[in-house]
Amino acid sequence: MSSEELRTHSALHVVKGAVQRVIGAKWTASVYVAGRHGRLTVQFDRKPTGEETARIEEEANKKIAEGAEVLEFEMEKQEAEGHFGDAIYDLFPVPSGVTILRIVRIPDWNINCCNQGHVDNTAQIGRIRLGEPRFRNAKRELEIEFDLAE
Ligand SMILES: [Zn+2]
Repeated sequence: MSSEELRTHSALHVVKGAVQRVIGAKWTASVYVAGRHGRLTVQFDRKPTGEETARIEEEANKKIAEGAEVLEFEMEKQEAEGHFGDAIYDLFPVPSGVTILRIVRIPDWNINCCNQGHVDNTAQIGRIRLGEPRFRNAKRELEIEFDLAE
């Protein structure tokens, strides 16, 4: 992963936290990163309003500007589930046979099992700009795209 993609991928965690807060969408169906462009697809039942989209962007940028620590640690699967519940999971499954999970945590914001690389501090992401979200009614999926703005 390039250092740019490290920032973009880390931004996914920040955007996910903002999406959870602003519209309450919990489950991530897929993620995509290419250079400075990222896409988070979450399970949801409608297209967010313009106001909600603006708030997602605003909350994400606030968390980035805050310079929150991005913590990475390993934990036994059972222990992690006991501690954090199913919040650590996305809709794409962890391979069976995995007993140690790598957890990424932005305190009070996002927790996810994830085995990719991340920045140490959200300030390293710089600002992001959200695109117009796309809602796929048949799949009940909401695609939230963003670009690194700096
Ligand atoms: Zn990650």
